[in-house]
Amino acid sequence: MSEGRVRHFEVLAFRCDEEGTVEQVVADDLALDHKLSAGESMLTIIDPLSHDKARQFLRALVTRQAASGWELTVMTGGRPFAATFTGARQDDVLFVIVGRSARDITDVVETLEQISNEQLNAFRTAFRDQREAFDRRTRSDAIAYEELTRVNNELSNAQRELARQSSELVRLNEEKNRFLGMAAHDLRSPLTVIAGYASLLAQEETADPEKLQIYEDIAASSRFMLDLINDLLDVARIEARKHEISVSSFEAVGVLRQKISAYLPSAKAKNIGINITGDAAFEMRNDADKLRQIVGNLVGNAIKYSNPGTKIEVSIRKLADSLHLEVKDQGIGIAADQLGRIFEPFVRLVESGTAGERSTGLGLSIVAQIVAAIGGTIGVDSEIGVGSTFRVVAPLSLPATVRT
Ligand code: ADP
Repeated sequence: MSEGRVRHFEVLAFRCDEEGTVEQVVADDLALDHKLSAGESMLTIIDPLSHDKARQFLRALVTRQAASGWELTVMTGGRPFAATFTGARQDDVLFVIVGRSARDITDVVETLEQISNEQLNAFRTAFRDQREAFDRRTRSDAIAYEELTRVNNELSNAQRELARQSSELVRLNEEKNRFLGMAAHDLRSPLTVIAGYASLLAQEETADPEKLQIYEDIAASSRFMLDLINDLLDVARIEARKHEISVSSFEAVGVLRQKISAYLPSAKAKNIGINITGDAAFEMRNDADKLRQIVGNLVGNAIKYSNPGTKIEVSIRKLADSLHLEVKDQGIGIAADQLGRIFEPFVRLVESGTAGERSTGLGLSIVAQIVAAIGGTIGVDSEIGVGSTFRVVAPLSLPATVRT
């Protein structure tokens, strides 16, 4: 190869020691701003910002025998330029070629032919190693791709299986609800008969006191079972999304007061007072039965979880276009970290009410669902040993018939 061609490729080629101190400049056609000469550091032609990288390049040459395609900034024509550095090591000597781009590499290798066969061999080895490394990477990329495809397929299968199991669960849940509904419905009639007869027997004047107590116990237990069954029916209905809302016009304060008065006897039995305050009569177009169920549950709980001698305040107000119902007790209260749980089904924070009343943990979960069904919201504030306040806000008017 002629000298002319070497110049034509515009490279800078030099030998240096492991520190980068130039021993001999072999070719210099790159027209860099600083002309590199023997005895200088290779760093003198490199922009200070690239010095660290240049030192890494030298280290790579020393440790790996060869390095190619490193971009380091040099100054040419007063401007920074990313030149490509390629090099090989032989014994203690490093041979470095600087070109304008990585594409020049083949030409640069040819350029080397004029230097020494040994150095050229070192370069050939370096490039072969590099190509092999590239091939290895391509092979391992192909393996990784196959693995990815396999994992992807497994994922799709798992997804299909999950969808199948999920629809099976939905089917099983519907079956459970149907069964729950049927069982609860069929149990309700005979239990009503038992409760009715037990109450009748308990009122008999002639029977002996021991028997009367037994009749009362039967009546109380069957009433509890009836309540539980009604709750379970509600849960089944809610889960099956068959909670039909029936909208009608009614006078809210009267409806709510009437329902609350049904709880006066059990409140009186525990020496608990119920005080109702709020607005005068106002009309609503919503589901009266659902409102009764809500206030009944809240007042029932207030009595159940309060001690004798305390008071319950119920406030019924009309604010803007909403009903604001508040049931405040001076009962046992609920710990702050438990407040979020009480609206979940089957959550009971205590075994029973303050007078041993039974609890199922279903009431508030049903209330929360019903409140949502009639377009309202429910919230609670409570403090252990001080009492709880449940607040319901419901729209005064609902569209004709809503199914939840
Ligand atoms: P139940 O009263 O049948 O257990 P609820 O769903 O109505 O079911 O209530 C869930 C739990 O929340 C109750 O077990 C009780 O621990 C707590 N709780 C509900 N209302 C009150 C209240 N007014 N005061 C204190 N705790 C209450």
